[in-house]
Amino acid sequence: MKKIISLFLAVCTALPVFTQEKGKIDIPDLKGYVTLKCDFHMHTVFSDGSVWPVVRVDEAYRDGLDAISITDHLEYRPKKDDLATSHNRSYEIAQAAAKNRKIMLIRGAEITREMPPGHSNAIFLTNADELDKPDYMDAFRAAKAQNAFIFWNHPGWLAQQPDTTLWWPEHTRLHEQGMMHGIEVVNGEYYPEVHRWCLDKKLTMLGNTDVHAPMQTFAPGKHRTMTLVFARSATTEAIYEALMARRTVVYHDEFLIGEETYLKELFENALEWKTRKEGNVVTVTVTNNSDLTFRLKKTRSDARLIYFRNTSIVPFTIAPKSTRSFTVRLLDGIQGGDVNFIVENLLAEPNTGMKYTLKI
Ligand code: ZN
Repeated sequence: MKKIISLFLAVCTALPVFTQEKGKIDIPDLKGYVTLKCDFHMHTVFSDGSVWPVVRVDEAYRDGLDAISITDHLEYRPKKDDLATSHNRSYEIAQAAAKNRKIMLIRGAEITREMPPGHSNAIFLTNADELDKPDYMDAFRAAKAQNAFIFWNHPGWLAQQPDTTLWWPEHTRLHEQGMMHGIEVVNGEYYPEVHRWCLDKKLTMLGNTDVHAPMQTFAPGKHRTMTLVFARSATTEAIYEALMARRTVVYHDEFLIGEETYLKELFENALEWKTRKEGNVVTVTVTNNSDLTFRLKKTRSDARLIYFRNTSIVPFTIAPKSTRSFTVRLLDGIQGGDVNFIVENLLAEPNTGMKYTLKI
């Protein structure tokens, strides 16, 4: 019996601390950059969340993330009577778990004010306590003094913007004074107006969960909303540089939202195309090596190329890790041409799919 127990103990101690596997979402890297999966907005019991900070790290590990920031509210701490402590505490408590799990943990806090200016996250802080100021401008100035990356949260939140998603003069001031670097284009829902602002005002696009309760578990192929960051290396310093340089894409449901240049490269790096010509029929075979989905719809094209169907409301969908084929018929003796389509779930412009041309 003793032998069995000692054998059992030997096996147990040989096991890693956690047996669950790290989640995996295959999204291609871009030339010169690694694609990092990040969630920069979440809460714990140190503000109005309902979980201990370590749980956020475990959830991120399970969900295949590379980096997170815990951003507890500075001004709203309903559990303060039980947890009266520094605003840095959730970060400090999560640190050891993050190190174990190899999740990059970024110190953050949420500046939580009425509209305007509403709620903003400051991340890459060195001391969150210094942002606890009566005047919101002083809080932003303290964040800026720590070289934080600052972004406006959920600008279309109904509770604060009941009619339309407005950009206030206060936001112009923050932006002009270098105290707003980005905005959440997705927080629960997609805000097309904000997508426009980011393109026009050269702000970084972010998509985060803002999770308060325990993070839900996802069925295979599903994922939490996240910000894809194209960083020079998998380090927090590289994430900071990439965020400041606006190299992000928001990944929300099947949608990728961002600058066309990054969407296009993701699309091209995820797919392999092969063509085979027999007579006037070209068979196009496409293999998707990623976990992304692509929904293609025909756009204006040369009438001598017959592919997909103009009238179809059903897109040609390339599912994750799949191979599909379609044919292009060439009429009037032409030898090739442009297969034009939009990828309707890659939003390069507000509510507008990315245009693409496949030359055959
Ligand atoms: Zn929040």
